[in-house]
Amino acid sequence: MTPDAILDRDATDLRARLSLRARLSHRLSRHVPTAPALPRLHGPMVSVTFDDVPDTACSTGAAVLDAHGAKGTFYVSRTLLGTATEHWRVAGAEALAEIHRRGHEIGCHTHDHSLVPTLDTRDFAADIGRNRDALAALVPGLVLENFAFPYGYASLAAKRVLSRTYGSGRSIVPGLNAGRIDRYFLRANPLFDRCLDAGLLARLMDDAVARNGWVIFFGHDVAEGASPYGCSPSLLESTIAAASRRGIPVVSIAEGMARTRGVAGERCPMQEESRQSGEISVQRAKGGPRDR
Ligand SMILES: [Zn+2]
Repeated sequence: MTPDAILDRDATDLRARLSLRARLSHRLSRHVPTAPALPRLHGPMVSVTFDDVPDTACSTGAAVLDAHGAKGTFYVSRTLLGTATEHWRVAGAEALAEIHRRGHEIGCHTHDHSLVPTLDTRDFAADIGRNRDALAALVPGLVLENFAFPYGYASLAAKRVLSRTYGSGRSIVPGLNAGRIDRYFLRANPLFDRCLDAGLLARLMDDAVARNGWVIFFGHDVAEGASPYGCSPSLLESTIAAASRRGIPVVSIAEGMARTRGVAGERCPMQEESRQSGEISVQRAKGGPRDR
């Protein structure tokens, strides 16, 4: 499934914003690695991630994860914080600080919720640098370690920047991460009520067990009557329960990356490198779309 097929409401609009060159770069980025593959996993893992993030992800979503002793990853764009969209209100800084205090991971989703293939290397680096600095100012002690592409659109240029600045980049191409895993194009499955049913959930989990794979989910709001891009609390509960029944740990992306290195809890070395090199400077970045 392509990003367009998942985010169908915006498909025409998104395509219109992408030049042929940008579309080609996105397609190449799906197949061309910019860093060595992750070491083979020693066991299955599940991660639950939220993009943007709606206030119900921080309240209900984080509470469901906490109730099961699991931690999630919340990918944040500074520009979206506190805004209201058609489908939800985006969480504010206090909610982020609260889930961060409880051990959930905050990740980078660009500063401007940018359509990444429209940015060149310099503008992309500037954008994610601005997001890093802005979020660090809002949430004391916050260090961003992992990245998710807005709308699931990536580029080779962005992947090269990420390979110097973040430990991973998450796409929205569904499937299992197993075998040779491209850490800068991690597959992720929609945690949407309309996309995930009991049968698919069971297949994904069984596959993860059979192939020592990493199943990553991405969602937005968590509410009864959720948006087309979110899920009910019961679907989130069922997802965690399906993992637990099979003995699969539910971990944040940071924890999952640490486990691939066999050092759970270790800080991402990319992070130290980028800070020391000063590679991420604060510059004005191009504006981008702002809904999801
Ligand atoms: Zn987004």
